[in-house]
Amino acid sequence: MRELEAIETVGVVGAGTMGSGIAQVAATAGYDVVMRDVEASYVEDGLERIESGLDRAAGDDLTPAEADAARDRVEGVTDLAALSTADVVVEAVVEDTDVKRDVFADLDAVTDDDVVLATNTSTLSITTIAAATDRPELVVGVHFMNPVPVMTGVEVVIGERTAPGTVALAHAFAESLGKETWESDDKPGFVSNRILMPWINEGVRALDEGVASRDDIDRGMKLGTNVPMGPLELADHIGLDVCLDATETLHEELGDRYKPAYLLKRKVAAGELGKKTGRGFYEY
Ligand code: NAD
Repeated sequence: MRELEAIETVGVVGAGTMGSGIAQVAATAGYDVVMRDVEASYVEDGLERIESGLDRAAGDDLTPAEADAARDRVEGVTDLAALSTADVVVEAVVEDTDVKRDVFADLDAVTDDDVVLATNTSTLSITTIAAATDRPELVVGVHFMNPVPVMTGVEVVIGERTAPGTVALAHAFAESLGKETWESDDKPGFVSNRILMPWINEGVRALDEGVASRDDIDRGMKLGTNVPMGPLELADHIGLDVCLDATETLHEELGDRYKPAYLLKRKVAAGELGKKTGRGFYEY
């Protein structure tokens, strides 16, 4: 297995909300980054998000020269073969087991045999994703929180065949990005989403069932439990499609207590996915 000291280049698969955030923090920490998406326009969008993220950080956490240097360390690509130089890979493509398994089979083919392959999945089985490779002992969940440059927490998820050395590398790598970690077994939703998603879903149900207005639900939870965002605002922030995918996985695996709220499904069907489409429970 490639140790932390040998890691110079980080591969990131998926240039969306999470992939671009992971690429940004890796470049800021001094790694070279190769970020891949399927379409050039998605890569461009990801690079623009990194650009504005670094602009925000410049003068605050970073000097303008450090922000420029980080920007120069990120290469955006559509060619899968460009990931062959990666010393570790973090996958952040759509939350779909079949898509992720295809990506891992491809990564298994193009990267060196001793490279750890991490998935940023919110709820899917690490063990099932790892089984698409010939190196399941080197596959691990490294679950960043959104927005990645701001949130310090990273959940390390241990699959059935993940080796202890891989778990140790996952912690060390996340810490090298300035993050703090905790561990979860490979059970649906892990620690974070097993508890968070029902909270969000119940907020959506409360709105749908007329318990209170959108603003009162969020205000009630903020003032009542001292969280920075209420469930509906947080759902918009995460992406309603991401919340629905996660809740559906939990429902499938754990039964009716996790059944997605009807209103959540209706909003996703309408393309109102939250912040990223300009409209969810709030308008942006
Ligand atoms: P997103 O929709 O913003 O981005 C996903 C990207 O993956 C898209 O740009 C898409 O084009 C790309 N993609 C799809 N197939 C690909 C392939 N084969 N190769 C390369 N790129 C491909 O989604 P996101 O919010 O960034 O979520 C990504 C992952 O991170 C999901 O597994 C999600 O569950 C997880 N996650 C999301 C959040 C969140 O708050 N949004 C938080 C933690 C974890």
